[in-house]
Amino acid sequence: MTRLVSFKQWPILAKIMTISVVSITVVSAVVLLLFAPQIERRLLEAKKEGVKNVVDVAFATFAEMDQLARTGQLTLAEAQARAARKLETTRYGDNEYFWINDVDVRMIMHPIRPELDGLDQSATRDPRGKYLFREFVKVARSAGAGFVEYLWPKPGETVSVPKISYVRLYEPWGWILGSGVYVDDVQRDMARIRWVLLSGTALFMVVTLGFAALIGTGITRPLRKVITGLKDIASGKGDIVLTKRIAITSIDEIGLLSSEFNGLMEAIGSLTVFKKVIEEDESVEEVYARLGEVFTGSLGMKECHILEVVGAQGKMVQVYPAAADPDGPRCDPQVLESCDLCKAKRTGHTISSLTYPAICRHFRGEPGQEHCCIPMVVGGGAIGVVQFVLEGGERRAVARASEAGLYRVEQYIKESLPVIETKRLMTTLREASLRDPMTGLHNRRYLQEYTEKIVAGALRRGKKVGLVMCDLDYFKQVNDTHGHAVGDLVLKETSAVISRSVRESDIVIRFGGEEFLVVLLDVNEGEAMTIAEKIRGRVEGTKIKVPDGVLTKTISLGVSEFPTDTGALWHCIKFADVALYKAKEAGRNRSVRFTSDMWKEEQF
Ligand code: GH3
Ligand code: MG
Ligand code: MG
Repeated sequence: MTRLVSFKQWPILAKIMTISVVSITVVSAVVLLLFAPQIERRLLEAKKEGVKNVVDVAFATFAEMDQLARTGQLTLAEAQARAARKLETTRYGDNEYFWINDVDVRMIMHPIRPELDGLDQSATRDPRGKYLFREFVKVARSAGAGFVEYLWPKPGETVSVPKISYVRLYEPWGWILGSGVYVDDVQRDMARIRWVLLSGTALFMVVTLGFAALIGTGITRPLRKVITGLKDIASGKGDIVLTKRIAITSIDEIGLLSSEFNGLMEAIGSLTVFKKVIEEDESVEEVYARLGEVFTGSLGMKECHILEVVGAQGKMVQVYPAAADPDGPRCDPQVLESCDLCKAKRTGHTISSLTYPAICRHFRGEPGQEHCCIPMVVGGGAIGVVQFVLEGGERRAVARASEAGLYRVEQYIKESLPVIETKRLMTTLREASLRDPMTGLHNRRYLQEYTEKIVAGALRRGKKVGLVMCDLDYFKQVNDTHGHAVGDLVLKETSAVISRSVRESDIVIRFGGEEFLVVLLDVNEGEAMTIAEKIRGRVEGTKIKVPDGVLTKTISLGVSEFPTDTGALWHCIKFADVALYKAKEAGRNRSVRFTSDMWKEEQF
């Protein structure tokens, strides 16, 4: 069964059209059912009133003539004849005339049908069977005067048409004077009026419906576009749709809605594009740079600093602007050293001096400047803070002026946070995968990854790469005597000693359990051996504190040089290992330079 949908659910156009149809119906009903019959009645009343007045005036003739008879100037018969003659020739209106009959239903005078004069009319009927003359007598006798409706032909015609007559009895003579109007001219007038009313109503209907349709579609068309636009966004149809705009055709609420919608699309569109761009950026530094550029560019923020929390040391560094702004953020310098001094970082809430003056005690802006610090919160903790420095002035005015910008800034931060977090995580993971967690040194995979770069760089600069393979002497004893924990301690200490013995640019790799490979970049020929000796001496001279006393260990080293010894780096590494073996053989705690006699080609 179909159920009537409630009016609330009707489309706007249907509602508007319904309202106009209802109003048209009401107006038409009032005009046609109430006005028209009333006008018709009035017209008829007026006609009847006219007839009555005319009859009343003509009626005076009887009294006038009767007076002459009473005073003896005329006989009764002469007086009556004179009255009849006078009325016989009297006309009014178009075809209107008077007739006289008496209370015995005999025709006294009929100006149009003189052949009836003197004849009894009690048997005369109209086409509907009405004894009209009897009716005249009846009405006149009972009330003295009155109206009678019947059918009678117009003068000169034979067809009977509706007529209303007024009859009045003159008692002294027993005569009844009558005159009537033909109703068809009333009906003709009425038809004309009705036609005017009808066409007026029709015109009103057309105009109203037209206007309603125009206004209705003017509202619904842009609305429907907004709805489709929103639907498309919700269904995530992507780029094509985000460029959708509505043509603004009016400046009313619909126009406002359209322009707001366009603004929204613009904002979502640029935000989406921004997100895509930063997702494909290579490093997190690039993302920070782009964020900063958007903030100070299209979002119109004058001064902005992006700070990033680094590592577990609780420090913060400025990552935007990168180089152009050596001054850093407008904060107490201590804040960078200890990031929990930053209220935004600590609380994870936006800290704005526009909310409360001097909200942050560590802000160091110029007098009158305001600040708004927005934390970059990921998983409950802040990984950084964006500081906006706002020009001073009346605080409420500054707040109002920066409100929209700050709101959009927050959207950009929110959108880029997952990207920043992912990139940071990727960097950390990548770095972790290339390092040995115990000693913090690079691992073999790192060497594999950078072999090509090392080789290319050395060849380009025409320099040598020194390779020093190191192995602790009798390390197994440490484990056996003091336990693995002490063994680990010795390994960490030794790796620190080795790292400290070489340049920052050199690469120290934990090559195996207690084997380290030092890659010395850009050395001169023979220099590698010197550095190997330096390492050996320092390890030997290091007193390692262990729980049950102090340990000293020695180390053996094998040295080779690339590309002096061979043109393949990995062969060269092998040669260093061969030299190391020789050092062990020769009694340990020494450095041995690889020589070609230590290796026969077929041993590969
Ligand atoms: P040498 O090199 O002088 O010939 O004698 P060594 O005792 O050092 O020789 P070897 O290569 O046989 O022993 C290496 C030992 O290092 C074996 C292993 O238990 C130990 N080792 C390897 N990695 C680790 C580590 O991460 N922690 C600790 N505690 N021990 C390790
Ligand atoms: Mg060893
Ligand atoms: Mg070993």
